[in-house]
Amino acid sequence: MTVDAKKIESIVRKILEEMTGEKKSQDGNHGLFEDVDDAVAAAVVAQKQLIKLSLEQRGRLVEAIRQVGRDHAETFARMAVEETGMGNVKDKIAKNLLAANKTPGIEDLVTDAFSGDDGLTLVELSPYGVIGAITPTTNPTETIINNSIGMIAAGNSVVYSPHPTSRKTSLLCIELINKAIVKAGGPENLVTSVIQPSLEQSKKLMAHKDVKMLVATGGPGVVKAVLSSGKKAIGAGAGNPPAVVDETANLEKAGKDIIDGCSFDNNLPCTSEKEVIVVESVADYLVFYMKKNGAYQLTDKEKIEELTNLVVKAGHANKDFVGKSASYILKQIGIEAPEGTRVVIMDVPGDHPLVTTELMMPVLPIVRVENVDQAIELAVKVEHGFRHTAVMHSKNVDHLTKFAKAIQTTIFVKNGPSYAGIGVGGEGYTTFTIAGPTGEGLTSARSFCRRRKCVLVDGLSIR
Ligand code: NAD
Repeated sequence: MTVDAKKIESIVRKILEEMTGEKKSQDGNHGLFEDVDDAVAAAVVAQKQLIKLSLEQRGRLVEAIRQVGRDHAETFARMAVEETGMGNVKDKIAKNLLAANKTPGIEDLVTDAFSGDDGLTLVELSPYGVIGAITPTTNPTETIINNSIGMIAAGNSVVYSPHPTSRKTSLLCIELINKAIVKAGGPENLVTSVIQPSLEQSKKLMAHKDVKMLVATGGPGVVKAVLSSGKKAIGAGAGNPPAVVDETANLEKAGKDIIDGCSFDNNLPCTSEKEVIVVESVADYLVFYMKKNGAYQLTDKEKIEELTNLVVKAGHANKDFVGKSASYILKQIGIEAPEGTRVVIMDVPGDHPLVTTELMMPVLPIVRVENVDQAIELAVKVEHGFRHTAVMHSKNVDHLTKFAKAIQTTIFVKNGPSYAGIGVGGEGYTTFTIAGPTGEGLTSARSFCRRRKCVLVDGLSIR
């Protein structure tokens, strides 16, 4: 058996690290490794160093990650659009800033305390260790900023497996986060990745014995993969958010909100409105206000069919059109869109592929129904039980309650654009990992923690 010099060096380095518990500085590395084993080994060392720091110091590292997001929001946005061909720069800047500014930090780690005659017991939120995080192409740097803040605030290190189609952008983000953490006094390699991410590498990461938790943000394939890993896993999967509009809604606002939400980053967010279900008596008014806000209405049945055949392939969104602009998509079917076109809308029946498929592009089918009960029933059906996101425009509290109870989504936005649900113009913190399937919901630092009980018998109760 022949072992090359590089492998010998890597083995020696690992033995030294294990012996000393410390990693030697590797200039030019910045969290990026050829091999998954090396990326995990470095993250193991980094995590051991992280938990030796005070919470105040940990908070400073979190602040440094936020600053990377703020300083490079535009670079990340431009690079992502160029590399993936998806989304738009303006909205991606907003998404990066959102992740940097509204992701909870160490303040999210709240201790539970029980005190009484028998003493004092604490339930503390402790880290898992090394987390393997698989990230999507639709929000590449946003997810890495968001996950890094939450996971490191919780005391973990992270090994990323970024989507190969957003590789360069994701690796730059990981590198800059590393540099910022070191500059802020933290250890190297708190966030790492392989230089050539692939499905193979992703599987290796999932199976690695030193990876104690897996977090998957992506479609059904990757969520199923982490849930079958035999490890603690968080799955943030696909959605198909319906927007229901009833006869009591403020139609002018609903029309604007739906187009704003649907067109955000060319419909890439998993939370964006993917189909509209409207009560027939108000449908024409709603369409009027949607058109006023940049919707282009397709009425020709042949053109609707042509568009459908173009954007839906074998029951899935055609990747060539995911995250493209409305005018680009219209051009492919021979239509020159007027200036200001943001979304393509069309009337279709409820079982149409444009309705049932998660498209992730600004193509928004509209289904007209007789009443709110039919609207709710259809919305529940086309959301496919993903329990992800739903939107309703209504002033009737009974209708709002009925729909929210029936659809059981993690995010339910009332009378606003879908992005209010991730903290843009809506109260509450943000996340880019919305864990419907495994139930953590809007993940934050506390989602990446183990609950540990610490019991002091007798004393310290001052009640
Ligand atoms: P994707 O599923 O194609 O890829 C996501 C990641 O998983 C990538 O890194 C990919 O390489 C990896 N991957 C895919 N299948 C895998 C498998 N079998 N084993 C191991 N790794 C695997 O998704 P995408 O196109 O990047 O993103 C879009 C999808 O993600 C949509 O369905 C969207 O709704 C969903 N999404 C969900 C959330 C959420 O918070 N719930 C956030 C963003 C995106």
